[in-house]
Amino acid sequence: MEFWNKDMETIGSGRLESHTVTHLKATVGRALRAPFYRKLLGDSGLSEASVTRPTDIDKFPFIDKDDLRKHEPADFLSVPMKQVVRMHSSSGTTGRPVVVFHTKYDIDQWTDLLARCLFMTGFRDTDVFQNMMGYGLFTGGLGFHYGAERVGALVIPAGAGNSKRQIMLMKQYSTTAVHIIPSYALHLASIFAEEGVDPRRDTKLARAYVGAEPHSEESRKKIEEFYGVDAFNSYGLSEMCGPGVAFECPEKNGMHIWEDRYLVEVIDPKTLTAVEPGVEGELVLTTLDRQAMPIIRYRTRDRVRLLADPCPCGRTHRRISRITGRTDDMLIIKGVNIFPVQVERVLMRTDGVGNNFLIDLDTVDHIDRMTVRVEGDSALFAADGGAARALEKRIVADLKSELLITPRVTVVPAGTLPAGEGKAVRVVDSRPKQ
Ligand code: ADP
Ligand code: ZN
Repeated sequence: MEFWNKDMETIGSGRLESHTVTHLKATVGRALRAPFYRKLLGDSGLSEASVTRPTDIDKFPFIDKDDLRKHEPADFLSVPMKQVVRMHSSSGTTGRPVVVFHTKYDIDQWTDLLARCLFMTGFRDTDVFQNMMGYGLFTGGLGFHYGAERVGALVIPAGAGNSKRQIMLMKQYSTTAVHIIPSYALHLASIFAEEGVDPRRDTKLARAYVGAEPHSEESRKKIEEFYGVDAFNSYGLSEMCGPGVAFECPEKNGMHIWEDRYLVEVIDPKTLTAVEPGVEGELVLTTLDRQAMPIIRYRTRDRVRLLADPCPCGRTHRRISRITGRTDDMLIIKGVNIFPVQVERVLMRTDGVGNNFLIDLDTVDHIDRMTVRVEGDSALFAADGGAARALEKRIVADLKSELLITPRVTVVPAGTLPAGEGKAVRVVDSRPKQ
């Protein structure tokens, strides 16, 4: 097994503990230079001296996206603006985008972390890497770009969209690895089919890095089968630099979350106390080595399970499960809690189902109604539509046993539902606001 940074990737628990204390202290010290934290921590008398062991994190207040949105980004700055070399922002999936500033050191550390992630999967300087994520403010573009360059690969900064050109680039420059949003990877599969290009036969693709949105194991399998690749789940958020926070190793049994760079907690979002390992809760992160904008106890809203059992790859950093969704992705339909990824899981394992779907929610006579529109293979629509009706019935039954409510299901021809280049919009909720 080769490592990018063996010392850090296989760090023992004792050394990780002292590393965490040193870096948490430094983070608190730096944070106190930022107006937001000077007030927040100062009011409760918290300082570097408050940290003597990792569990002292419990003394610190949580912050969330609203705190970042309510204040000016400069209020979080711990260094003079002169030292800031880059800004990024979140995608704004759930509201006003959050701006994050970086020093040269921050960019360097983030780049190194992505190189670590990529190298872990077998990515090397001989790879040709096509980055199909939006460049610009979105962190998925430049973040991976610099990481792949640091490993020494040839990087094609293709950006998002322009599907035919993506396929042309893959063929012409023998792309071996791609970074792609999973819903877009599924959409792109239909463009491959239209173009008569078979990725297994006509390209050299071997690896795909998929992330930035919740997706199921079933979607990963579909992507792996269609493209003939190993697909690795990649997790990150702009507030914590971007991608590189957690990443799958070749075992594909959860994502190693880099504990030398982030202090990890998983809490019950109601009681705000830690849940047991293996129990789903909200991921809370603290940056351990960021200069421009240190962030303490950030509630990500992302729902995960922490997997503490050792990984056969030899890396000691704990792992997180696939992300079920954000707390605010949770739909309450007829009193039942549902995550869109549960619907995706059922659809993507069903034969005859295509690559796209949409959940519509409305109310009829004050009762919630859920309608799932899903694209189906063209063969289904050939004769009298009987095959499509049969598929709809099967999906209704499968969704009912997964979700415990009975949705309506309509199978529609491929290419008829809206498909974006960025994070997929899976739900249209037209129910009156409470
Ligand atoms: P925004 O929060 O506006 O979407 P970001 O682009 O920073 O902005 O996205 C980060 C969020 O994307 C994460 O908090 C998480 O909800 C989601 N995300 C990122 N990677 C994954 C992944 N591999 N699986 C599921 N969700 C992910
Ligand atoms: Zn591993």
